[in-house]
Amino acid sequence: MLPVGVLALQGDFREHEQMLQACGVETLLVRDEAGLAKVSGLVLPGGESTAISKLAVSFDLVEPLQARITAGLPVYGSCAGMIMLASTLVDGRSDQITFSAIDMSVRRNAFGRQVDSFEAELNAPKITTEPITAVFIRAPWVEQVGAGVEILAKIETGLHSGAIVAVQQGAVMATSFHPELTSDLRIHKYFLNLVHSA
Ligand code: GLN
Repeated sequence: MLPVGVLALQGDFREHEQMLQACGVETLLVRDEAGLAKVSGLVLPGGESTAISKLAVSFDLVEPLQARITAGLPVYGSCAGMIMLASTLVDGRSDQITFSAIDMSVRRNAFGRQVDSFEAELNAPKITTEPITAVFIRAPWVEQVGAGVEILAKIETGLHSGAIVAVQQGAVMATSFHPELTSDLRIHKYFLNLVHSA
């Protein structure tokens, strides 16, 4: 199999690379079109979506990446990566671009300043039968999804109960939270299943 790529412009791409390697796959840090051409799937890391957007434009990656996504490339975005996959942004910067890979509206920094970071137990029955401890850091949430989008997980308790935090459309998936900052490989393994069946 071709290596699985991690977009390495900004953010916690090394943590994603380690997770993929722990799952037993070869990885490639992608920073240009030539790198993008060599991968069988791509992870968009957490970080700062405005910075990733700016760098994707200056590294001429926007059109090639959109073309590969349209052609069926499996992609997984965590946190800032989720923002990069949205078709519409709420509270984005006006010059910020996204790849429009999932028909969804995403609100940046949705959980508010008081709750910069927190953990929550989530159920994601399509991914795993046991609950996941999800780490949220200045996280977005999904505000609306189109008909073709599957909701994989929602916040279940507390103030933000009902907030959509994991979604999938075809071979593209996104989480508001950061499995790459834990030792739990279940989300990455689920994504690798999408890569293998693509
Ligand atoms: N708030 C960040 C953004 O808008 C995302 C934070 C994260 O990836 N942990 O890009």
